[in-house]
Amino acid sequence: MKMFEERILRDGKCLPGGVLKVDGFINHQMDPALMMSLARELARRFGDEPLDRVLTVEASGIAPAVLVGYLLGLPVVFAKKKSPSTMENALSARVRSFTKGRDYDVCLSRDFLHAGDRVLFIDDFLANGNAAQGMLELIGQAGASLAGMGFLIEKAFQPGGAMLREKGIRVESLARIESLDGGRIVFAR
Ligand code: 5GP
Repeated sequence: MKMFEERILRDGKCLPGGVLKVDGFINHQMDPALMMSLARELARRFGDEPLDRVLTVEASGIAPAVLVGYLLGLPVVFAKKKSPSTMENALSARVRSFTKGRDYDVCLSRDFLHAGDRVLFIDDFLANGNAAQGMLELIGQAGASLAGMGFLIEKAFQPGGAMLREKGIRVESLARIESLDGGRIVFAR
C-alpha cells in the first residue's frame, strides 16, 4: 500500500535494535482514517475466507482488529496480558516480547474461542513471530483453526514471516520492511 509506505517514511522513526517507532499514528496516538483504510485492505484480502472471529493481542492489535471485525461482521476477541480474577477456564500461552525483551503470559477465556472456530489473527507488527506463535498455541488449545494472519507492518529482516509461511499459514502484511539499517527505512519489493 503506497500511501501507507509514504506515511511510514514521513512519520516513522528508526530506533536502535531494528525497532520502528510509529507511535504518532499507529500505536499510541492513532490516525483513525488511516487505520480504517488499513482495516479495509485487510478485510478485502481475507474477505474470501470463511471466518468465525478475529483474534488479536492487547494492546496495539486491538484498533486494527476491531475495525477488521466491524467490516467483516465478526466478533473480535483479544488475548490479555494479565489474567483477570474473573476469568474462569482460561487458555494461556507464554510469549517473548520483542520490544520489552522479556516473557509474558497471554490468556483468553474459552467462552470466546471455541472448538471448530475459523480464526483470523490481526496485529500491528510481525517481527520474530513470537506473538503469532502464542496465538497459534491458544487456537490449538481451543481446538479452533487459523484461517490467516494479517499485519499492518512486517519487518521482513526478522524471521517471523518466513517461519509462519513455512508452516503453510496465509500471512498478509500491508507494509513489508526490508531494512532499517543506518536509520533508513527500506521497503521489500
Ligand atoms: P513478534 O512477536 O513478531 O516478535 O513481535 C510482534 C510484537 O512486538 C507486536 O505485537 C508489536 O507490538 C511489537 N513490535 C515488534 N517489532 C516492533 C517495532 O519495530 N516497533 C514497534 N512499535 N513494535 C514492535
